[in-house]
Amino acid sequence: MAVLNPFASRRSARKKSARRILEEQKLTLPGTDLCFLFQRDGCRTLRMTVKADGSICVKAPARLPLERVFSFMTARIDWVRSKRDFFVAHRGMAAPVRNGTTALYLSRPFLIRPVRSGKNVRARLSGHTLELPCLRPEADAETNAKALERAFLRWQKDTARLVLGKRLTRMERHARAVFGDNARVSSLTVRSLRRRWGSCSVRGEITLAAQLIAMPLPLIDYVLCHELCHLRAMNHGSGFHTLLRTLLPDADEREKRIRIWGLEHPR
Ligand SMILES: [Zn+2]
Repeated sequence: MAVLNPFASRRSARKKSARRILEEQKLTLPGTDLCFLFQRDGCRTLRMTVKADGSICVKAPARLPLERVFSFMTARIDWVRSKRDFFVAHRGMAAPVRNGTTALYLSRPFLIRPVRSGKNVRARLSGHTLELPCLRPEADAETNAKALERAFLRWQKDTARLVLGKRLTRMERHARAVFGDNARVSSLTVRSLRRRWGSCSVRGEITLAAQLIAMPLPLIDYVLCHELCHLRAMNHGSGFHTLLRTLLPDADEREKRIRIWGLEHPR
């Protein structure tokens, strides 16, 4: 969820939980197709939120004229669009893979560019571009579009396997040092997951979502630490959370940030 609140003070942030909704309606920004949920509450500032599903919520003080709300939104329409693009890109599998769309690698955006496939031509990040060798001049557009999607998923999985594998080894060593034990990961599987960022079996087999490769490293580390704590506690009880906070003191903050990225909390 992206929150744009240029006028908020720390004091108003603290009072947020106490606000009561006085009025609520669905509105369209005049002259655009942009719909949003409009709420009036007891706060003194005007705030806009773009959620991960692309929906927009605007909260305003009780007596602020609607014209002020519309001009506030009109001035920020590019910000709204960029946030929506960001969320689409972050959903990994859900994002359309086409020439010129964005793929994220460790939260950095790269433009997807299909290039001619051939022997020894590999996918690569070059400048601000992700080159995916998949084009065959003799194939029709639909075949090439499907080949591009397959090439992207292959790149995503291969890259995730490499990066997450190295990172997991490092975090595993760190966890053993912190807890003074010898808990070990028995195997790592990386694949496209539809529902979860990761899971850990009772035998210590960890499965991670290939889509994690789009995230910033601190959030990847959160998922890895979460699964590494399951080597020591299989449930999500208070013991588990104590372990997680010992390994990662700001785990609660990272857990909140991970929610915008589309899949569910790790298991
Ligand atoms: Zn879990």
